[in-house]
Amino acid sequence: MRRKTIGLDDALYDYVVATTLRDDDILARLREETAKLEWGRMQIAPEQGQFMAMLTRLVGARKAIEVGVFTGYSGLSVARALPDDGKLIACDVSEEWTAIARRYWKEAGVDGKIDLHLALATETLDTLIAEGGAGTYDIAFIDADKSNYDAYYERCLTLLRPGGLIMIDNVLWGGSVIDDSDQSEDTVAIRALNAKVGKDDRVSCVILPVGDGLTLARKN
Ligand code: CA
Repeated sequence: MRRKTIGLDDALYDYVVATTLRDDDILARLREETAKLEWGRMQIAPEQGQFMAMLTRLVGARKAIEVGVFTGYSGLSVARALPDDGKLIACDVSEEWTAIARRYWKEAGVDGKIDLHLALATETLDTLIAEGGAGTYDIAFIDADKSNYDAYYERCLTLLRPGGLIMIDNVLWGGSVIDDSDQSEDTVAIRALNAKVGKDDRVSCVILPVGDGLTLARKN
């Protein structure tokens, strides 16, 4: 098929960000602090945070899930877009990274909307299901260890209500998904989930060339 999607070179990307990014001091400082970390590149792009906040509002989300908090940028973006009585269940295993997240969430005044679970996300999600949470969540963001992506996807799909939205990050994986010589565990897992979601009749889906590739899967 002939490509119709425009490519963004640096100048065009800068134009997009300069024209539409609604930045503020807290977001900017969190980005700066995270960029200094060894794994700072794992932080989502600022326009992706803004896009996720818009999606949160578009689905009218009150209950959200995040698998993979890192230093909290996406969680901050989503939590701000939740109503005052909204709740974000945030899953991560790193005390060190989420300590940064908690500091910024508190400063932004959204800490009361976020329940951080420092445990394996599969266990946290299974607990939510066991407690009767299936079908009650509005939106979920999956951005953690890639080898468990399928496990996270299945659990989030169970937890979502019909019409709820799953966002899956890094689905193009720097282009590695089409590099057959790359058979690393992470790449194989992402490739497998992409193929599965693409044909999954429980959802409608798109892959957007946002950040490192973002899948949107809406539960039927
Ligand atoms: Ca990511």
